Amino acid sequence: MTLAIDPIELASRLVACPSVTPREAGALTVLGEALEPLGFQVHRFVSGSPPDGPVENLFATRGSGGPHFAFAGHVDVVPPGQGWTSDPFVPEIRGGLLHGRGAVDMKGAIAAFVAACSEIPEHRGTLSFIITGDEEGPAIHGTQAIMAWMEERGIRPDMILIGEPTSEARGSAMW
Ligand SMILES: [Zn+2]
Repeated sequence: MTLAIDPIELASRLVACPSVTPREAGALTVLGEALEPLGFQVHRFVSGSPPDGPVENLFATRGSGGPHFAFAGHVDVVPPGQGWTSDPFVPEIRGGLLHGRGAVDMKGAIAAFVAACSEIPEHRGTLSFIITGDEEGPAIHGTQAIMAWMEERGIRPDMILIGEPTSEARGSAMW
């Protein structure tokens, strides 16, 4: 089956955005531009002020009613630090793995979410993306701000899948 969205290609484009917390660096634009053609309504909003912000967050939704299934994640990454054998913000596939800062934590998961949604153009209920720009930093104006934004609008998903990597033994090569 041909995916409407190639998750590796989308993950690579996200990795190419140097979105070190709290900089969005184009990552939310890449994500929004991938979601809109799939029928998602994309909302972006800025929360906070220095020194913890501003942080930009994204909420995207498709469909209506229940059940409401949401994907949650973050586009920010920690500073790359030392020890890279290639530019951390130039995505590169080596040995069958995508290398670059955030490939695993967690732009790869976001790209997988989008690719999955691109395979199901029609569905019951509501699909949403809850994407923060600050999970790796103080995390005050990220998830908490999105939750407050959703609460104000009476948006409460029934289920949320978080794409945070937890398998250190298998994922460590791709940090
Ligand atoms: Zn993470």
